Amino acid sequence: MSTVIPVPDNWHAVLSGWDDLRHGYHAGDKDETVRDCARRLDTAAPGSKGDPVLFWTLGLLMLAPHVAFDGPGPGVEDEAIAVLSRVARDDDGRTCAHGWHPYEADVDDVLEHLPAWLEVLSSPVDQALEDLLPEAYLDELEDVEAEPANLSGPDILARWQCPRTAPGFARAALDYLGATIR
Ligand SMILES: [Zn+2]
Repeated sequence: MSTVIPVPDNWHAVLSGWDDLRHGYHAGDKDETVRDCARRLDTAAPGSKGDPVLFWTLGLLMLAPHVAFDGPGPGVEDEAIAVLSRVARDDDGRTCAHGWHPYEADVDDVLEHLPAWLEVLSSPVDQALEDLLPEAYLDELEDVEAEPANLSGPDILARWQCPRTAPGFARAALDYLGATIR
């Protein structure tokens, strides 16, 4: 059964590595973690529907604080910005019927909740709908006005699955890095 968003087989281990790094207890090579994520995103993007473009984009968003503030080695930031720009440009000319997408939430809130959200997004749709009680999810987004407050569980999942969501998160990551689309 397919998952809400495509994820790689070892996604759980990858995600805990990102989360450890974000919380400062990552034992391995941090820059290599960023480069690996950027390369995986570069391989996946623009990609077909089954490629985990959104997953790796969310990875670079989770790693953005390290890139922005920890003084990464030469070339690391450029590599991240180049691939994020490619993903962000994929939104050119796209339209959709959604008034709101998850990338419009406050980036610090997104970073805080991404590990929990990815648990839901990496599960089969039916199970995700059971796990994703809209009320619980929307509590986290209470400062977001308008559409999200009225969205049902399937509505929220549809917005995560929208082809504009990965480019939107790529723009959010670029913003975080103080970079513009190249
Ligand atoms: Zn949309």
